[in-house]
Amino acid sequence: MRAQIAGSLAKTAAGATAQAVLSACVHCGMCNATCPTYALTGDEADGPRGRIYLIKEAMEGNRVTRHTQKHLDRCLACRACETTCPSGVQYHRLFDVGRTVVAQNVQRRWWDRLRRWVIRNTVTRPAFVAPLIVAARLFGMAPARVVVGNRPSGTRTRRMTLLKGCVQSAAAAHFNAATVRVLASVDIKLIETPGVGCCGALHAHLDDPATARRLARRNIDAWIAALEGGDEAVIVNASGCAAFIRDYPDLLAEEIDYTAKARRVVEHLRDPSEIIRQNPPTAMRTPQHRRIAVHDPCTLRNGPGLAGAVENLLTNLGYAPQPVANPHMCCGSAGAYSLLQPDLAGRLRAEKLAALTAGAPTAIYTANIGCWLHLAQTSSVPVRHWIEAVDDVI
Ligand code: SF4
Ligand code: SF4
Repeated sequence: MRAQIAGSLAKTAAGATAQAVLSACVHCGMCNATCPTYALTGDEADGPRGRIYLIKEAMEGNRVTRHTQKHLDRCLACRACETTCPSGVQYHRLFDVGRTVVAQNVQRRWWDRLRRWVIRNTVTRPAFVAPLIVAARLFGMAPARVVVGNRPSGTRTRRMTLLKGCVQSAAAAHFNAATVRVLASVDIKLIETPGVGCCGALHAHLDDPATARRLARRNIDAWIAALEGGDEAVIVNASGCAAFIRDYPDLLAEEIDYTAKARRVVEHLRDPSEIIRQNPPTAMRTPQHRRIAVHDPCTLRNGPGLAGAVENLLTNLGYAPQPVANPHMCCGSAGAYSLLQPDLAGRLRAEKLAALTAGAPTAIYTANIGCWLHLAQTSSVPVRHWIEAVDDVI
């Protein structure tokens, strides 16, 4: 696809990224086949090819309208389209540039700006999230509190840094405690490095890229210090946060001091399943409930290419994951998407839960705090992080 990036954007790294991605697209439309929003609405503008055209128009300096913004806002950023693109188009990189350009050119209505501000400034702060979760639990809108359990003390042969998380540390502190226990069982100590906080994903997705870059720089500085201090890897057990951290080099592409550091962090970024695959723990017990369903978040499947990794790992520990239809379909969580697009997100969740529960599992296991909160709201069976299933049997 020929594109002529207009104005000052053409001279930036973001403009070069957009140009390269647009050039790779041959507008064949094969990507539409795996796009969840296209499947729901059947509207070309709600599919990847249509959105690529809309972004191209914006990049070329044509008038951008609320029509463009509406269809970009409906994108889940799930990257399912990239898995069926024969030309290797990196849609998500174009989308990140495109939505920023559109946000700069289209003034949102006051209530839309307000709700985005509220989400950015509450959901990412554990002190605000904690009472919200308590209230949500009272109304049955969040999973019940789980006992956090102990964190083994003492040294281990190997050491890695673990992202504490913002929403997760307030809503599901037991995820990290279980991760610490599981990795301790294979002689790895996990440390929540001081100075690391929110990854910045929600700020970037909600029209505040400057704050996202500031948070990214802060985390990078702390992680580089940890790596230089002997930590082997940066462990992130929330696949949505990991996906955003993997994009730090693009986020900081204009900041020469930080792009190389961001790449170094990404080289050391690991999902716990990657560590466990190389260092399998010994199962000391057989699972109490073998029949389970695994929900691979888009951010685990489509970015790092870890589709099926959790399922294999749990099978090796004695679980019996049931087949799940259309695993490429997003559950609708997608960061703040479920708050901003409740209708589409609710329909995707209903389809996902129907697929996940078709095999009558005793529990659903996922790998992302957002999917966990979103699915658990209406799930008829418990939703858990897969690391809890490992923790149960070691
Ligand atoms: S499948 Fe790839 S090349 Fe074809 S329209 Fe979609 S993004 Fe473009
Ligand atoms: S990222 Fe997901 S929702 Fe967005 S265009 Fe691609 S497949 Fe569709």
